[in-house]
Amino acid sequence: MLEPAPGTEPGRSPETASTTAASDPATREAAAAVTPSETLRGLGISPGRSAGRVHQMAGPPLLPNPVPVTDPAAEITRAVRGLEDAAEELARRAAKAADPAARDILEAQAVMAGDPMLRESVDQYVGAGMDAAHAIDAACAHHRQVLVSVGGYVAERASDLDDIRNRAIAAVLGLPMPGVPSPGHPFILTAEDLAPADTVNLDPGSVLALVTEKGGPTSHTAILARALGLPAVVACSGATGIDDGTWVSVDGDTGEVSTDIGEEVAGEIQRRALAERDRLGRTSGPGRTADGYPVKLLLNIGSVADAQGGVAAEGVGLFRTEFLFLDRRTAPTHEEQVSAYAAVLHAFPGAQVVIRTLDAGTDKPLPFLGLADEINPALGVRGLRVARRRPEVLDAQLDAIAEAAGASDASPWVMAPMVTTPGEAADFARRARSRGLVNVGGMVEVPAAALHARRLLDELDFLSIGTNDLSQYTFASDRQHGDLADLLDPWQPALLHLIAQCAEAGRAAGKPVGVCGEAAADPLLATVLVGLGVTSLSMSARSVPAVRDALARHSADQCRHNAQLALAAHDPDEARRAVREAW
Ligand code: PEP
Ligand code: MG
Repeated sequence: MLEPAPGTEPGRSPETASTTAASDPATREAAAAVTPSETLRGLGISPGRSAGRVHQMAGPPLLPNPVPVTDPAAEITRAVRGLEDAAEELARRAAKAADPAARDILEAQAVMAGDPMLRESVDQYVGAGMDAAHAIDAACAHHRQVLVSVGGYVAERASDLDDIRNRAIAAVLGLPMPGVPSPGHPFILTAEDLAPADTVNLDPGSVLALVTEKGGPTSHTAILARALGLPAVVACSGATGIDDGTWVSVDGDTGEVSTDIGEEVAGEIQRRALAERDRLGRTSGPGRTADGYPVKLLLNIGSVADAQGGVAAEGVGLFRTEFLFLDRRTAPTHEEQVSAYAAVLHAFPGAQVVIRTLDAGTDKPLPFLGLADEINPALGVRGLRVARRRPEVLDAQLDAIAEAAGASDASPWVMAPMVTTPGEAADFARRARSRGLVNVGGMVEVPAAALHARRLLDELDFLSIGTNDLSQYTFASDRQHGDLADLLDPWQPALLHLIAQCAEAGRAAGKPVGVCGEAAADPLLATVLVGLGVTSLSMSARSVPAVRDALARHSADQCRHNAQLALAAHDPDEARRAVREAW
């Protein structure tokens, strides 16, 4: 449990507290006045409220029954036109993509849609008597099979071909293009689920909130919503049954989606939500409870670009270095690595910057490592375990971090993902310290590590709890699995007990224990984590203001009380409700 920090001044409100009086509850009042015809319930995974008209993301087109072809030449023209439409749409999206990596992917996809070999296959299938839609389907299936049989990086392009197929068939059948709609006014996007390709062009200026039928707290939808600062609800059964144009409100805290609220009520909710967002945007200063207890608010980043945007955070709690390695056939060179790490260190002079060594495997396959396919990759050679097979990759990365550190004013902290035993922690610490790195830590993502947090801290200087993976491994639930969202809920009391154990180990050892999983971005849960004794919270830049505000409105004692309430609860809903009622 959290203990008063030496040197803090109880009773003195920090700067943030004075700028954060009443807030979200007032916004929620507007919804309380609503008598909605129906309220759907899901899991709120990105906080805030929004209201507007719903528009659903069009799914892949269903193939109609085949029709006999009487004019093959005209049918080929129809099919080719479909492929051209798909290529043009992808090129348009590429031109609008702000992120260079996304632009490259879309441009490559547009080229693929115009591939003469694909067109030739379509010609042949029409020649064999197929209509345009079925010929495109068959040609794409054939090329897909070729890509998959090549394996590795090439096989990963198969899903790009699926997207081309869907777009070209939709064009041929005169159906809406699959993907994010553009109705010409701000809207609430509903979908079965959201994949990275669906969302690269998502414009937070026109999308007000996200609601999906599937997805969990650590799904792509959740991470994207938080990065964009959009309220979001996942695992919301019935979301895709809401008619386009219906006025709804979305509460990303409670997970409630109220339908048929009418334009007037929606306007009022939206006005209040915007005022609240403005107010939060004006908060500043270091993270502190209402009575001045310091809690470092740090950023989760994948590159220096994620750190930009003017959010006054106190450093970086998780630099996911694997983004430098993704989509590569060879490892980045020493120079490339040094320059990427140095860029981040220079952006945070004098601040804490925690660099995580490569976290490969499962949802982040890295072809250049040449690791064998595994039947159960989440339980296989991933995270720090990759060093068992390729120790030179870890050593090269530590060399680059040490060199980047030497050339900057910052003293980087370095940590390993997926540490499981004290022996692994000791080995990592030895490698890092032998290169002059002084703050050496590990991520707690496996229950065994949490249970032995004290022994890990005999070897390491700090721990950072990755609640996304710790949930996955504690509840034996694939973190991408929408049907298991309730088990992956970071309010699960069993997860909180493991976090409490880590925090207690940190307190006993006098060493920092932070949280860098998505749990840290939930403002209400942040008060619980602080009450459990966690010393820092790391999250995407957009999540910082609301978490700062929540802490500033709770004293350390209230945080401790919230932690007790959540630990005593029988399930996540009860935990959430108990803490919300105590707000
Ligand atoms: C986590 O598992 O909580 C974490 C922060 O790591 P990642 O999401 O990158 O696996
Ligand atoms: Mg992880």
